[in-house]
Amino acid sequence: MELVHIELKKEADNSYDILIDRGLSNNLAQELKGNPIANAYAVITDSNAAKLHGKRLLKDFQDRNIHAHLIVFPAGEKSKSRETKENIENKMLELALGRDTCIIALGGGVVGDIAGFAAATYMRGIPYIQVPTTLLAMADSSIGGKVGIDTRNAKNSIGAFYQPKKVIVDLDFLKTLPKKELLNGMAEVIKHALIKDKDFFHFLEKNIDKILNCDLEILKQTIKKSCEIKAGVVMQDEKEKGIRKFLNYGHTIGHAIESALNYKISHGNAIAIGMSYAARLSAKLGFLDEGSVIRQNNLLEYIGLPHKLSHHKLKPRKILEHIQYDKKIVNGKISFILLNSIGDGFVCDKVSLDDIEDVLG
Ligand code: ADP
Ligand code: ZN
Repeated sequence: MELVHIELKKEADNSYDILIDRGLSNNLAQELKGNPIANAYAVITDSNAAKLHGKRLLKDFQDRNIHAHLIVFPAGEKSKSRETKENIENKMLELALGRDTCIIALGGGVVGDIAGFAAATYMRGIPYIQVPTTLLAMADSSIGGKVGIDTRNAKNSIGAFYQPKKVIVDLDFLKTLPKKELLNGMAEVIKHALIKDKDFFHFLEKNIDKILNCDLEILKQTIKKSCEIKAGVVMQDEKEKGIRKFLNYGHTIGHAIESALNYKISHGNAIAIGMSYAARLSAKLGFLDEGSVIRQNNLLEYIGLPHKLSHHKLKPRKILEHIQYDKKIVNGKISFILLNSIGDGFVCDKVSLDDIEDVLG
């Protein structure tokens, strides 16, 4: 088993472990029986994860006479709403679940965000455990304690920082994950390598076929490294003031693409395109060499992630408009995450809209 420890400076009792191995969820009920962290458990999950894995997990709890309920909402980003959170809370209240309840968030990023946010506010805060089932959630979104929901106007606009008691990464869940969801997660994994770790980038290049074939041993190392990078950043900057901004590599243009397409593109695809232009911008401003731009974009292309606006018939003008809505512009400049080299990201405050327009072509 691999373990990544998260030690948050400001709040000592908010430290926790990410455990990574095959079959870990099979032992969860047994472990909580021996070492309970609550008197009751609410397993919150979406309709897909419920069928594939939730019912089995609930049965494990019931077989051990642990007080547990399964609460299911429809799969999809649309469910990441106030309404879903309210339904979950109403259900928990109807079930008379009190302060001594622990939420188990079983699913992808959507489940982690809503269930974590429900935990943050239910009875003024109850414990929760993340059991991510997508690569994106395992390697990225379940670390850092950002929880929340979308509103009609903006993604993740209502939320909190609220840390789980632990994160249990059971690699076996990846066996049922559709390929496009694996790629969605890979975009963030590659981002972690690009901003912080050139050896990891090399590892990804070398092992990409095994990753795409769902080799769980290689995925274990991939997820561990990705968690370590994200954890390292989050531990230094829990509430997103400085270095945590590095995690936004590819996201300024990526978010603009998502909103220009009304979120009809996956987050991974959008940030893959965003990263490809962020690398070109890094080169144009004299930070990154051309060879590295090609190397980055070759990896994205090889795994089947898009790397051009034209792949989605997007016009540069439209993207610029959305960047302007979204970002603070000071003296005609915006702050942008760029690369000095592969594995070395930084915040550049001197990017002009003209520079961006130039690389968007
Ligand atoms: P993300 O994790 O990318 O933020 P979601 O939480 O919406 O996004 O998950 C993406 C999709 O994958 C959803 O439809 C979800 O139900 C489904 N899903 C989650 N985990 C698995 C799994 N292990 N196997 C198959 N489908 C899964
Ligand atoms: Zn992202």
